[in-house]
Amino acid sequence: MSDAATIIWFRSDLRLADNAALSAALRCGGPVVAVFVLDEKAAGRWAPGGASRWWLHHSLAALAAGIEKLGGRLILRRGAAADELAEIAEAVEADTVVCSRRYEPWAIRQEGAVRARLARDQRELKRYPGWLLMEPESLATKSGDPYKVYTPFWRALSSTISPERPLAAPKELPRPAKWPRSETLADWKLLPTKPNWATGFEPEWQPGEAGALARLDAFLDAGAGDYAERRNRPDIEGTSRLSPHLAHGEISPRLIWWRVTCVRESNPGQDSGLETFLRELVWREFSSHLLFHFPTLPDAPFRPEFAAFPWRKSASMLKAWQRGRTGFPIVDAGMRELWSTGWMHNRVRMVVASFLIKDLLIPWQEGEAWFWDTLVDADLANNAASWQWVAGSGADAAPYFRVIKPTSQREKFDPDGAYVRRWVPQLAKLPDDLIHRPAEAEPMTLRSAGLSIPRDYPAPMVDHAEARECALAAFKALKSGDGKVS
Ligand code: FAD
Repeated sequence: MSDAATIIWFRSDLRLADNAALSAALRCGGPVVAVFVLDEKAAGRWAPGGASRWWLHHSLAALAAGIEKLGGRLILRRGAAADELAEIAEAVEADTVVCSRRYEPWAIRQEGAVRARLARDQRELKRYPGWLLMEPESLATKSGDPYKVYTPFWRALSSTISPERPLAAPKELPRPAKWPRSETLADWKLLPTKPNWATGFEPEWQPGEAGALARLDAFLDAGAGDYAERRNRPDIEGTSRLSPHLAHGEISPRLIWWRVTCVRESNPGQDSGLETFLRELVWREFSSHLLFHFPTLPDAPFRPEFAAFPWRKSASMLKAWQRGRTGFPIVDAGMRELWSTGWMHNRVRMVVASFLIKDLLIPWQEGEAWFWDTLVDADLANNAASWQWVAGSGADAAPYFRVIKPTSQREKFDPDGAYVRRWVPQLAKLPDDLIHRPAEAEPMTLRSAGLSIPRDYPAPMVDHAEARECALAAFKALKSGDGKVS
């Protein structure tokens, strides 16, 4: 115990409950100064994209309000984290800065810089877990290597983990004698203005810890027992939609694991659905472990042979995909849902990613960058690992030759076309059997039913069967080593 102040440096852990770093700051016994530093230079090209900036604004506002209720204040600074933290530590006479660990390569470098800068003034940086269920150093294969295959990773994690009760949020934060200087959120201009493209985000989301807990409650109260079937349906709300809350650390995976375990114990009928849900949560864990052990994951193919893949460069094709104007209704619906709400259903993410990579032969890094800018749940590990998974170039990836046929997704995942109708209203009037294949509609049949193919909906930009052959040929050439597409 000491009287010196302790700084809690909030990073991607924008919550008060189950925050081990915050609890550690309180245990030090002196005043606690909460700080968030917007250090865009450190993050480089992985600084928050547009949609994440929108979320970050609201999440920081919610965190600041929560901290004020406890008698504290959230100090905001923009600049190099090392310099800002050192200056605040000097001003409030803190001897320690505590934070939650992050696993992105840039964030690890940033921690190093903060540690070195504080050490110059005989101050210390202490890091705590909280982003993951298990630290990346704590799980390894029998030969001591990091896991590269999901199923054994899941087995190892789920048989080792003993769910601990999450830490409670503090009741009070002891104040320093004098508050350091703070910037204001409005000065940071994280929200879009001209134009305000985020109007569709507001009705969908409640950023902040309270919103995260409400989502978890709603998901568990609705009965997650049939999650295994419902999770594949973009036309219904069958998943938790916790991803943006997890991406900003507004809820900890440990709290989710704990709550799910309690429901499983008290309600065995929901067991199999909830186990599937935990398996999905562990995909997030797997991605972070991969990123930690293989830091080039966001930039370069995990399987090096894919570096020679004969990708196509086409700005106009990329743009048509980004805008949801490919002429493939399920792809366009997904891309429009993403643009309007900052989120897209996982099944549709796979469809649009496969379309970009395998039908258009555009490098997965282009899709990764677009998602980074437009997703409210953009997460470096999940995004990179998932794009590489679809491309077939990742660890434990889908085989490259698995090319998703956009029109055949219908029966399984959007049987009544409700998802397409919602996001591509031009097609809303088409009958169920044509909604996913408008280009195949016979004009005469439509005309006699008083319908027409909307003029403002594009024809399919590629022939899927031909595109598939071309992708498979490119893949074959890659395997045989000549890299040429016939
Ligand atoms: P639920 O089904 O309720 O799952 C609960 C949680 O488990 C999610 O919130 C998420 O944290 C985790 N999870 C679920 N599925 C996956 C998965 N396949 N991989 C990793 N974690 C998973 N997820 C992101 O959080 N950020 C991204 O940037 C991201 N980019 C993606 C890019 C592509 C091309 C694809 C195919 C998937 C991507 N995902 C990403 C994974 C997945 O689509 C989302 O996590 C999921 O759709 C979030 O919805 P939910 O919270 O309702 O999920």
